[in-house]
Amino acid sequence: MDGFLHGRCALVTGSTSGIGLAIARRLAAAGARVAVHGLGTEEQIAAAVASVQAEGHGEGHGEVRHFGGDLRDAGAIERLMGAVADWSGNIDILVNNAGIQHTAPLAEMPPEKWDSILAINLGSAFHTMRHALPAMAGRGYGRVINIASVHGLVASKEKSPYVASKFGLVGMSKAAALEYAAYGSRDSGGITVNCICPGWVETPLIEPQIEAHRGGGSRDDGVRALLAEKQPSLRMSLPEEIAALAVFLCRREAHNLTGSAIPVDGGWTAQ
Ligand code: NAD
Repeated sequence: MDGFLHGRCALVTGSTSGIGLAIARRLAAAGARVAVHGLGTEEQIAAAVASVQAEGHGEGHGEVRHFGGDLRDAGAIERLMGAVADWSGNIDILVNNAGIQHTAPLAEMPPEKWDSILAINLGSAFHTMRHALPAMAGRGYGRVINIASVHGLVASKEKSPYVASKFGLVGMSKAAALEYAAYGSRDSGGITVNCICPGWVETPLIEPQIEAHRGGGSRDDGVRALLAEKQPSLRMSLPEEIAALAVFLCRREAHNLTGSAIPVDGGWTAQ
């Protein structure tokens, strides 16, 4: 890949696993210095950092460090943003990816799940954007990529807090896109704020739902049942495919692609 992100710094929340890890790897491959963030055991975190580092090449490319911080805690987010800025000077690319899921009918949803899903999937993006966007505006280049979901565009039952958080994330991203649309120039790349809205992607997040759809059969049966229900392509996306779109959004020529919510869902939301 060309090193078009050489000299840029990216923070990817929840990049110790799944889609976030794939995005961190692709950004490092494009030359960015990457702040990996997320939870996990020491071994998981070390493995994630090593796999992102392995993508960087050339002097100054792919410098990588892990930052902690529980996104349910606004104070921890404040410290995270300060620590990343101290390390890198700037945050040019902010990917709000961390997210959790819990499925249950609304009346049976534990209220503490509502609190944690809204805090991690939506509230944390408000806090990171609040910190990062003014400095991006000052430099004339910035990218905010929020990993929403098809559930930011359409609903499914038994996911009330998740759907609320993702619709909220799509709406908040549009508002921020408008506020920052006129900063920078075509040459500097401008400030853009977009959502990527995946359908089913092969990551640990959806394993409980695959399990719930097995109906006594194999894991593959569970995957087929999930896809048949909602995703007309009948194919899961891979995290690397979501990451490829995220990297495109960072390019200068994407300066006018802002305020959008891009589905990568095999036709789910076309129905
Ligand atoms: P994942 O479970 O593999 O990764 C989630 C990441 O979030 C991990 O790094 C984890 O450490 C981090 N995280 C969770 N709780 C945290 C907390 N309290 N504080 C800090 N970090 C925390 O999940 P994934 O499937 O890669 O999901 C990434 C994003 O993509 C989520 O926002 C999810 O809603 C969205 N998404 C996933 C799918 C899918 O099918 N997998 C579909 C649509 C949208």
